[in-house]
Amino acid sequence: MKFADIPGLADIKARLIDSVKQNHIAHAQLFLGKAGALNLPLALAYATYLHCENRGGNDSCGTCAACSKNLKYIHPDTSFVFPFRSIPKSEEADQVKAETLKLWRSFLLNQPFDDLSGWINQYEGEDKQASISVETSREIIRTLSLKPFESKFKVMLIWQPELMHPSAANGILKILEEPPPQTFFLLVSNAAERLLPTVLSRTQVVQVPLLTDGDIDTYLEEKHQVNESRRQEIIQLADGNLNLALKLMGSEDDHYADRFADWMRSCFKRDYSKLVVFADDFHGLDRLNQRSLFQYGLGMMRETLLHHSGAESISRVKSGEVKFVKDFSKIMSVDKIASVNTLISDAHYHLERNGSAKMIFLDLSLQIAHVINPEQFHT
Ligand SMILES: [Zn+2]
Repeated sequence: MKFADIPGLADIKARLIDSVKQNHIAHAQLFLGKAGALNLPLALAYATYLHCENRGGNDSCGTCAACSKNLKYIHPDTSFVFPFRSIPKSEEADQVKAETLKLWRSFLLNQPFDDLSGWINQYEGEDKQASISVETSREIIRTLSLKPFESKFKVMLIWQPELMHPSAANGILKILEEPPPQTFFLLVSNAAERLLPTVLSRTQVVQVPLLTDGDIDTYLEEKHQVNESRRQEIIQLADGNLNLALKLMGSEDDHYADRFADWMRSCFKRDYSKLVVFADDFHGLDRLNQRSLFQYGLGMMRETLLHHSGAESISRVKSGEVKFVKDFSKIMSVDKIASVNTLISDAHYHLERNGSAKMIFLDLSLQIAHVINPEQFHT
């Protein structure tokens, strides 16, 4: 990955490039962003730039021996650590690891903006907890005890360090604080609050914001020739998340509006039997559609809030959705909107972490019912 392959984020790219030019590279950096931020692509582009033998002012050259290996993710001095299912003793660990690394490379090559659930799908580990094992932390130390093979530097990229087993995280504290010379740790995380404070305090944070609507708009138009009205729909749902935008692009599904309105009505009426049916339906959707429904819900909360403040002119709701927003605003105070927003965000987070879709949905429905129609609890 080169910086040029990543849309937007000009300031951060310039800062990262500058740190290399000035030789002011922190030995452990934490690329931090919300779900959907392009912190992994940025860290990959940074590793490519570090190793490049013919660096330009704005990007790696893309053609030197180091670049050609980094662009295929096979550079011997760029190591990757990422969450995976646990490997039982019955399996041949070395063979599993070699195969996993191949899968990892094709994951990065296929669609470089993908996320944890995309990776879990790639190795078909849906029903198992993904984590970074204690054994991996020993490997990190072993790998870094060797001198660089081809480059002046060694790069250790740890994706989702928040999923490190606590003993694994503790196991690398010392080397994270004092890595061997010319060794750089790039930690890439979507949840700083779940990192051990001892890990956090040893890194320099590179904050990566979500893309702007304009960045996504341009990307979809230039790279994928998506027409304007479809782009507007996608942008509204994606909310700065390019990965989601790309997945929505391939999905024609456009029934979120009815589904969401129906769901909220059932919450309000406390129609429990219907909510159970909804939870079953939700469970049957694929991950993309599950996430999109939540994303859509967050969008509608925002629209309802805008409606409250009288700012309809900047609202992004399509005409067919206006009636729902108007009706919904009548029963939703600003506090209620904020609460439902938080509930949906939390559920989204748990879904990303591979919780049971049915339980998450049902639990969410009951909590939303309680927020939007609390009176009925007392009757
Ligand atoms: Zn190069």
